[in-house]
Amino acid sequence: MRGAWLGIAAALAACHGRSARGPSSPAAIAPGPPRPEVNGASGSVAVAQPPHDSRPEIAAGGPEGTPAFRYGMLDAASCEAELGRRAISHVRVPSARGVLMPLRLTGALRGVAFHGVTSKASRATSPYEIMDCRLALALDDLAAIVQKHNIVEVVHMSAYRPPPTRGWTEGAIGKAHGGALALDAGTFVRKDGSTLVVERDFHGRIGASTCNGAPGPNPPTPEAVELRAVLCEIAEAHIFNVTLTPNYNAPHRNHFHLEVTAGVRWFVVH
Ligand SMILES: [Zn+2]
Repeated sequence: MRGAWLGIAAALAACHGRSARGPSSPAAIAPGPPRPEVNGASGSVAVAQPPHDSRPEIAAGGPEGTPAFRYGMLDAASCEAELGRRAISHVRVPSARGVLMPLRLTGALRGVAFHGVTSKASRATSPYEIMDCRLALALDDLAAIVQKHNIVEVVHMSAYRPPPTRGWTEGAIGKAHGGALALDAGTFVRKDGSTLVVERDFHGRIGASTCNGAPGPNPPTPEAVELRAVLCEIAEAHIFNVTLTPNYNAPHRNHFHLEVTAGVRWFVVH
């Protein structure tokens, strides 16, 4: 199996401003990929086999060989063990509704700090700073990519967004932000203090495709070109199942939605 694991259904559900989708088991495997839409008339998602020279193929093991799939399948104990092996500095959060293994990072990942836009004092208690262990592993991989671009700080709008209590089944595991499995990254700060700001520097167009030989940013300022390169390297690494950008829709004008989706074999980049 090779090529693009793209679809529209997951994207539609992935980051739409609401806090959570329905509960599900992290161990459940989705029955199949979202409905593919090849260069759909809507223009909302361009799905095609990309030129092979523009995107590394998914590993020989297929989607099951990708980091995102592996992370999505981890149970809390296995994930925590991997946090330990990677020496990821964190504290456990006793409980967070919908989150399999909630934690707060207490240090940088590979020299890259991740934090929200709220004041430093409030971050220790802000729910938006809570991450599921599986997201933390993906962000550790992300850190390895962005540090090559001299990025030392990723400022986000939120990881966790507590799902509504109404109708929530006790013990259910949420998805996307409701499961603390997604991060909305808005600003990347470089070593020299300069920034790559998604809202300012993405220079995309809603409906346009994003990587894989897609038209680059317009105008192609140095910041825009760098930001696009960072994003597409993240996408190619298959550490997130869902990667949404300002090209997806207006609510994503100011951030990249980066999500591990537990138990699925597909990938969305838009
Ligand atoms: Zn999001």
